[in-house]
Amino acid sequence: MTDYFDRLCAAAGVIPLDGNCLSVEDRQELLDCLGQFTTYARLHASTRKPGHEIEIGFFDAPEVNAFAATWHGQDGVAISWGVVTTLRQAFMSALISPDYFTWIPTEARDDAATWLYECSKFFVFLHELGHVWNGHTSLLVQRGVSAFIEEIRAFGDGTLGNLDRQTMEMDADGFASANIFNLGVATHKFPTNHKGIEEEFGPGATQLAMVSLAIYFVFRLFDAAADFDDEEKHAHPSPPLRQLIIAGALAAAAHNSGVFEEKNARQVIFHGMTAAEEVYARYSEKPIDGAAFQAAASLEGGKYVRKLLRRWHLLRPQLDQLKRGGILPPTQEIADDG
Ligand SMILES: [Zn+2]
Repeated sequence: MTDYFDRLCAAAGVIPLDGNCLSVEDRQELLDCLGQFTTYARLHASTRKPGHEIEIGFFDAPEVNAFAATWHGQDGVAISWGVVTTLRQAFMSALISPDYFTWIPTEARDDAATWLYECSKFFVFLHELGHVWNGHTSLLVQRGVSAFIEEIRAFGDGTLGNLDRQTMEMDADGFASANIFNLGVATHKFPTNHKGIEEEFGPGATQLAMVSLAIYFVFRLFDAAADFDDEEKHAHPSPPLRQLIIAGALAAAAHNSGVFEEKNARQVIFHGMTAAEEVYARYSEKPIDGAAFQAAASLEGGKYVRKLLRRWHLLRPQLDQLKRGGILPPTQEIADDG
């Protein structure tokens, strides 16, 4: 990680990760992660603004967190090391138990755990990349507010309303949901297939369900309710609402890829989410409880998402000017109901 990254972390009030404090295995994991993220960031840049570089690194924090910023004219993405340790441990421990995922044979279980961890970790990274590429960090600079899009701490300055900020979170989640299919997730297959789901929905259903599982789990970790009354008091939509938005964005992306009918994609994604609730129950040592997501998936939740989509139409003309590589046709982002 670079001098710029160190200064970026200092400005954001976090401590850059010191690789020398890690075990030998984790030091390798750090190098692998940085290599993967940098490779993907360059690949994405090659299609939109060739040569555009983003500073990417890890900061030292045990929780799942990240931020993106355009700071001193340079784009940066910072991920907490807790993203690696938490997600890796959660999926490893779920796959160690023979009671879970009984359809995954013993010899494939290590690879399956790694695949789920990689997918969930990449979603966090892609979300941050979305904040940069879709112009969100630039909008903050343009409006003269704090340059940092932080994922846990909320903003107090009020210069961009919470609804604007939530809309940008939705946009970044849409970016990540569309782009997760461009990664190894498309080329590097989940190590085994679930016969039942493949027979019912067709080839690729296991893969889609596992993508859904991995991403849903990231937000499940926050263990938060969908609270519509207080919803606009926060800079982020509540995690269950984000799970709902992402399910829609994944279904649209799967449909656009030509592999699934959208209705079938939704069912497959739902299978993944149900399995994620089981993994979370095991991880948190609590009973299975999908009530928060069910509340988000209610009529009221749908109404709230439509409110964000209307806001997105207002924000979008401003963001389009700020996108790296200029205005692009709407090939990604959000399942848009107009
Ligand atoms: Zn965000």
